[in-house]
Order: sequence, then C-alpha cells, then structure tokens
Amino acid sequence: MRYWISLFITIFASFTYGDDKTSLYDFRYWSAPDHTRIVIDKEEDTLFNIKNTDDYVIISFDDAEVLSETFSNIFFKDNRIQKVRIKRDKNTIKLIVHISRKFKVKHFTLEPNAKYRYHRLVVDIIDSESQVTRKITKPDTPHSSRNQKIILVDAGHGGEDSGAVGKNKSLEKDVNLAISKKLVSIINQNKDLKAFLTRSGDYYVPLTKRITIAQKQKATMFISIHADSVESVSAKGASVYTLSEKGNNSKLAKQLEESQNVVDQFGGVETVIDNDQFLKSILTDYSRKDREMQSFQLAQAIILQLDKIGPIHKKIPQKANFVVLKSPSIPSVLVETAFISNPTQEKRLTNKRQQQKIAESIYQGIMNYYRNLD
Ligand SMILES: [Zn+2]
Repeated sequence: MRYWISLFITIFASFTYGDDKTSLYDFRYWSAPDHTRIVIDKEEDTLFNIKNTDDYVIISFDDAEVLSETFSNIFFKDNRIQKVRIKRDKNTIKLIVHISRKFKVKHFTLEPNAKYRYHRLVVDIIDSESQVTRKITKPDTPHSSRNQKIILVDAGHGGEDSGAVGKNKSLEKDVNLAISKKLVSIINQNKDLKAFLTRSGDYYVPLTKRITIAQKQKATMFISIHADSVESVSAKGASVYTLSEKGNNSKLAKQLEESQNVVDQFGGVETVIDNDQFLKSILTDYSRKDREMQSFQLAQAIILQLDKIGPIHKKIPQKANFVVLKSPSIPSVLVETAFISNPTQEKRLTNKRQQQKIAESIYQGIMNYYRNLD
C-alpha cells in the first residue's frame, strides 16, 4: 500500500511539474550580408521544431511561454524577414517568420558560457549560393584593376560575440567596427589603396571566413582591430600583435591567443579550425620568414604612430598564434587599440574624435610601412 501511495505521489508530482511551461527568455536577430541569424534563449530541454517553406520559417516550441519583458524583442524586419508573428495554440508557441523568398535554413544549439547564461537555439536563414556569389563577385570587378594595394580591415567580434565589455557597458565589437569603418574611409581617400571590411555591421563572421574574405578580395595586407581587456582597471595602452608560428610564451599573449581562438565557440559557428593543419600550411610557405618580417615592420610602424596620440602598453610588437592572423602570405597584424576594461580608455574608445585619431594613426603607420619598403 505504501508503495502505491509513493508511486502515486511520484506520478502526480511529475505530472504537475511537467505542466510547468518552459521559458523562452529572449530573442535576438543579426542581419549579415549573406544570412540573418535568429537566436532564442531557452531552457535546456525546451522542445522545438523548425519548418521551412517558400514563405515562412516556422519555429514551434512545446509548452513554452515568452516572458513579458522580452516579448517585444520577438518582432523584427530586414531584407530577408518581412515580419515575425507569434501564434499560440493550446500547447505550442509558434514563431512565424515571413520570408521574402526561399532560403536555406540551418540551426544548432549552444550551451551557456561565461557570456550567455541560457541555452541558445540559433536559426540561420541563409542566401542560396547563387545569391551569395552574385553579391561577392559584383563589387570585385570595378575600378580596382590598377595597381591598387588591397587592405582588408577586420573589425573584431560582432553579433552574438560582443568581445570585451567595458565598465560602462561599452561593447568591444561596436568600438572595433567604428574604428575599422573610419580606417577604411581614410584609406580609400588614397587612390593607390583600396580597403574592404570583413564585416560592415553587427553580425558574426567566423574567423575562418575572415581569412577566406582576405583571399577572395586578393588582399595584400590584413589589419584586425580589437580592444584589450584585463581584470585590473588600471592597465592601459595599445599593443600590436603579429603572427608567430609558435606563439608567445608570455601569459598575456597566451590568454589573448585563447580568447581569440575560442571566439568561434561564442559565435557558435562550425567546428574550430584544425590548428595543426593551418600551422602546416604556414610552415610549408616559403615566404613565411619574409612575411613575418613584414608583419613585424608593419606592427612597429603602427605602434610608432599610436605612441603619438596615447599610451602604449607594449612598445615592441607582440607575437601570438592567432588563428585570425594565419592568412597566407600577406603581412597581418592585430591592433589592440586600448584597454576597454580601463574606464578612462573606454571613454576614449567610444569617443568619435578619438576613434578618428586612432584610425588616422593606424593609417599613418601603414603609409610609413609602405614608404620603408620602397
Ligand atoms: Zn577582441
């Protein structure tokens, strides 16, 4: 008898428990040139189902509820998504995404990490190959036929990956993009140069793709823009990193290296690159030594200019084994413009005139590097 009572209690308890709705905590959308990313913060065991037609992408959740505080974040519009509706049946919530044409749809889930406390469902609405190639090949052809040097400016992080966060909540990804855009427009005033961005908005670009873009655009220089961050609020100044085959043993370089290489996991995109294979391709590259020298000279030229407008953290270019810098055969540097973790420097990084100054200094560094080559 006792057995039956306890069994009854167990069943009853699990039944009422199961009746509790699972929560959808928040919704975020990121528009990129070739896809739109939908991110939904959910509970670990939230059941979902995704349907893709010519007109809709329907994401349904079993026994779910949306928090009233984040309800308005459901609604979104861009050139792929015409509108988003929500439909509640007895037991399901349906997110009905009206799309402008047929897209490829991919999804994956992510576990919580240092930056995200909830489990995430990521749904990518992706342009078909033909749409992408048309977009990429088009701007490639005009005007860059002359002997223009092509510089790829890489704004670090983006989208779900915010990078470091300042004490006053400034996001590294925003600062990086603002400085990168300014740098590109300064470079493009020079008729001998042509600059492109790896990302032009707030969306995530996997590290591997940043390198592919460099190859596609036939870039002859790669400059990645970042902001530094450490626990201590007093650390300040700029540093410039170059590629090294083994990386640097210093603790900071190691930390940086790790944080750069795990970025892909934050963005939650594809498997992390096979480092050894990347390393191999670099080691067999006969021009490697030459390129390392060039990267070092470029880094030094940029540091000399940044030194004129603000503090420098490391006077000598640092070496680190960043995946993002392993683009073949072109001088590549990563500029840590300042420490966003230092409130004074954070203020500087978010100030438009200071951003312009930083961009101009990097440009002057690039120009001096070219002059020294001649
Ligand atoms: Zn960064």
